[in-house]
Amino acid sequence: MSDSGDTTAQQRVLPVPAMGLVVLVGVSGSGKSTFAARHFLPTQVVSSDAYRGVVSDDENDQSATGDAFDLVHRIVGKRLRRGLLTVVDATNVQREDRGQLVRLAKEHDVPASAIVLDASDGLVRERTRLRTDRDIEPDALARQQHDLSRGRAQLDKEGFRRVHVLDADEAGTAVVELEPSPHDRRELSGPFDIIGDVHGCRAELEDLLTDLGYRIERDDAGEPTGARHPDGRTALFVGDVVDRGPDSPGAARLVMNMVDSGDAMCVLGNHEHKLLRALNGRNVRLQRGVEQTLQQLESRTAEFRERLREFCDGLVDHYVLDGGDLVVAHAGLKEAYHGRSSGRVRSFALFGDTTGETDEQGLPVRLPWAREYQGKAMVVYGHVPTPRPEWVNNTICLDTGCVFGGELTALRYPERELRRVPAHRTWYEPTRPLHEESTGT
Ligand code: GDP
Ligand code: MG
Repeated sequence: MSDSGDTTAQQRVLPVPAMGLVVLVGVSGSGKSTFAARHFLPTQVVSSDAYRGVVSDDENDQSATGDAFDLVHRIVGKRLRRGLLTVVDATNVQREDRGQLVRLAKEHDVPASAIVLDASDGLVRERTRLRTDRDIEPDALARQQHDLSRGRAQLDKEGFRRVHVLDADEAGTAVVELEPSPHDRRELSGPFDIIGDVHGCRAELEDLLTDLGYRIERDDAGEPTGARHPDGRTALFVGDVVDRGPDSPGAARLVMNMVDSGDAMCVLGNHEHKLLRALNGRNVRLQRGVEQTLQQLESRTAEFRERLREFCDGLVDHYVLDGGDLVVAHAGLKEAYHGRSSGRVRSFALFGDTTGETDEQGLPVRLPWAREYQGKAMVVYGHVPTPRPEWVNNTICLDTGCVFGGELTALRYPERELRRVPAHRTWYEPTRPLHEESTGT
């Protein structure tokens, strides 16, 4: 764009999720269709006016509104199921209308953003007067303006990830910036060494990395500060690096340094999730290993604790890798959730497919999603310790209970080769034997 200097200065940049729903909001004549045509592909824009025309031969026929929105919602649903960016061009001045669209986005586990075109009433009236394609009653326009102003203040509490409000000048110059999903790392093809739940077993992690061919760097005290594979392989941690074991800070330091130097990636585990809450000063139950970590952290600096807090805060709940052929999530992930972002996707990735109920020992009841898995991607995860990793429909759990005296396991990808090292000892007594599914918490 060849904007003059002062235009550039006020040019708004609007981040919009590349996989998500964009809800345009504005009265007739506020410039929604113009904005949509300028920033999005025609196939990405679903317009209520266009479907009013499709079902009635007249885009102005208000009696066709119900049928038109049936189609709008169906098409939006079909596109979101396919993970396609979709823009709804309709006034959306009523809270209930926006609510239906937010629910559609949630149903498909994608974020929704709102872009409010907030042209002044005078400008809208003037444009409406000049328009030849629409016949808008002044009363109808006033009603829309009233509806919109009523909901404006609460718009950011309706479930949108972001709400952008643009005045007429900003609407003319703004640029839309598509934000790739943080889960989408399809461009990375490894090779990876995917490593199961470490749980503070720093020494066993060093053993495993060494066995895999990584060269470990150390500080003067001998503590590992980094590890690099001579062939450029990437270590990929399934989460639960911390808690329960003898040296969670040391294990976390090694993993954080490896991530910083590009030698590793790591997804969020439920233990990092809980530790983050504790480090944020939230009230967490001091059980299941977080109490050890917090105690071990007392001998570390405040800077280290803050770095660990930021690290946990920045972890993504799953990655889609290698052109979509590999998915890594702490507790696994069913195919419909691959690459998606929502509360229930996060909860599945962290805790597995739980029913929300607990058994007689207070442990979560799990559903066997892997046994029904038919997806194309290999899904690699941890979370529930088992004595031996086992392939179930192109999925594999790498948690072999190192902290409970089992082994620490890695899967080489794409080779599909398993490597494991034994625990130096039992660091934490399991609540039940490892072969009984559902010890993982
Ligand atoms: P919608 O009803 O919200 O979809 O509004 P439209 O995009 O159809 O715009 C309504 C009228 O305003 C049309 O005649 C557009 O040409 C005009 N319009 C929209 N945006 C702008 C703008 O940024 N500048 C000017 N000058 N006219 C605009
Ligand atoms: Mg329009």
